[in-house]
This record gives sequence, C-alpha cells and structure tokens, in this order.
Amino acid sequence: MISRGPRLITWQLGVLAEIVQETPRVSSLYFDAPDWPGHLAGQHVDVRLTADDGYQAERSYSIASAPEDRRLALTVERLDDGEVSPYLVGELRVGDKLELRGPIGGYFVWRGEEERPLLLIGGGSGVVPLMSMLRHRSHVARKAPARLLFSSRTLADVIYHAELEHLSSADGGLRVFHTLTREKPAGWTGYTRRIDEAMVKEVVWPTQDMVDVFVCGPTSFVEAAASLLVAMGYDPRAVKTERFGATGG
Ligand SMILES: Cc1cc2nc3c(=O)[nH]c(=O)nc-3n(C[C@H](O)[C@H](O)[C@H](O)COP(=O)(O)OP(=O)(O)OC[C@H]3O[C@@H](n4cnc5c(N)ncnc54)[C@H](O)[C@@H]3O)c2cc1C
Repeated sequence: MISRGPRLITWQLGVLAEIVQETPRVSSLYFDAPDWPGHLAGQHVDVRLTADDGYQAERSYSIASAPEDRRLALTVERLDDGEVSPYLVGELRVGDKLELRGPIGGYFVWRGEEERPLLLIGGGSGVVPLMSMLRHRSHVARKAPARLLFSSRTLADVIYHAELEHLSSADGGLRVFHTLTREKPAGWTGYTRRIDEAMVKEVVWPTQDMVDVFVCGPTSFVEAAASLLVAMGYDPRAVKTERFGATGG
C-alpha cells in the first residue's frame, strides 16, 4: 500500500480582487485563489515576484483572513527601502496576478476549538496572524476568552483599529489593549510606552495556567515580550512566537 506523504506545496496564482488601505503604510490585499487548499489561523504564505530579466524575490506574509473567509487576505506594511513590500503596497493593482505558495507553518497556529484563554501580543504588522485568529474566533461557537495587547507607533499606525473595536464591543469575552510608542494623542486612554512588565501584568489573567500565548512582530519586539512573559513565570513552551525580521513595528 502506498502511504500518502505530506502534501506538496506548490506555487499558484492569486488574483488581486480588492485593496483596503489600513493605515498610511499598510494595506490589506484580498485575493481570489481558486486552487487554495484552505489554512489554519496563524499560518503564512510565500510570495514570489519575478522581474522581466528573470530575477526573483521571495518573502513570507502571514494570512490575515480567517479560514472561513471566502478570499485570502494578506496585510502588508510598505518599507520604502524594501524590495518586495513597495511593490505589493503601491504597484500591485486589482486584477493583477501574484504567485503564492502555502499555507505554511504548523506551530504558530490556533485551531479555535480550545477553551483555554488566548493571549495575543503583537507589534506593528505582527498583528496580522493574530487578527486571523481573532477573525476565526468570531466564527466559532464556543469562544475562548481572548486578550490582545497591540503595540503601534502612533494612532494612525494602528492596523485594523475599527475592526478590533467592533469585534471587542460585540463580544464580552474579547478585550483589546493598545499601546502607542511614539505618540500620546489627546484623549487617548490606552498605554503610551513600550510594553513592559507592569503593562503585561495588567493585561494578562492572574493565573498563567493553561493559557495559549502567541507573540508576533519585529524580532526585537518578540524577544522582549517573550522574555517578559517567561520572567513572569510563563512556561517558555507555552509562549509561541513568530518573528518578522529586523524591521517593522
Ligand atoms: C513568517 C513571516 C510572516 C511575515 N508576515 C508579514 C506580514 O503579515 N506583513 C508584513 O508586512 N510583513 C510580514 N513579514 C515580513 C516580510 O516577509 C518582509 O520581510 C517585509 O515585507 C520586508 O520585505 P521587503 O522586500 O519590502 O524589504 P527588504 O528588501 O527585505 O528589506 C527589509 C529591510 O531591511 C533592510 N535591509 C535590506 N537588506 C539589508 C542588508 N543587507 N543589510 C541591512 N539592512 C538591509 C531594508 O533597508 C529594509 O528596511 C513576515 C515575515 C515572516 C518571516
């Protein structure tokens, strides 16, 4: 009998169906991908660009949409001196095709059937896979209590701000905490500093037992947040991390 090995992940074409500008530097790209096999919240795709001379560049992007959503969404921050992101946010147009490969990743995923509380900590575009988890959570019947601590530079940089407000106001089991690291706007009631122990203590549940923790963002942000949690007594194995690289948030 032939055993079925792991599914081969091949490149496929997504057709850009819609662009939603989230902040001045960040846009969500909604793709129709007819051959998409489905995904779990937290997974990512590889994107491949090919220049006229054959030069290729590949980058990873988290999936922003819930598994239940009809279209595959990516949310990309434009780094002005970057190679790939200025093309995705700025040049790609509705109707254009993009090479995608995925879904990728089996560790940084939340399946939604757990009743354990869900603690999400995101910096900048690191909120993207966490948003996929919250969108997925909004579809499941038995919702685990969830808290998101989200660090952004300024109020204008808060990705998904209105949707997060909407999700948390419609659902007593979800609380969203914002911190701004480079601005203290008048009337702002959230935090205005980099995340620290006092902040995390205010946000998390008193008991650390059986909490699913996902931390995502620029490498330095993830390392700082994960170290804080471990110093507070969290089991390092329970703190799942995804690093986006040196830059960002
Ligand atoms: C699993 C995963 C998921 C991700 N998900 C997302 C997501 O959802 N959204 C998102 O916006 N990003 C995400 N990223 C980051 C993304 O993959 C890219 O790294 C990002 O978009 C920058 O790519 P770029 O080609 O525009 O920039 P690059 O050309 O790669 O440059 C990035 C930065 O590094 C600097 N740089 C480039 N080369 C060098 C060098 N040799 N020395 C020093 N500095 C240099 C550039 O100046 C620039 O500021 C994810 C990364 C990973 C690993």
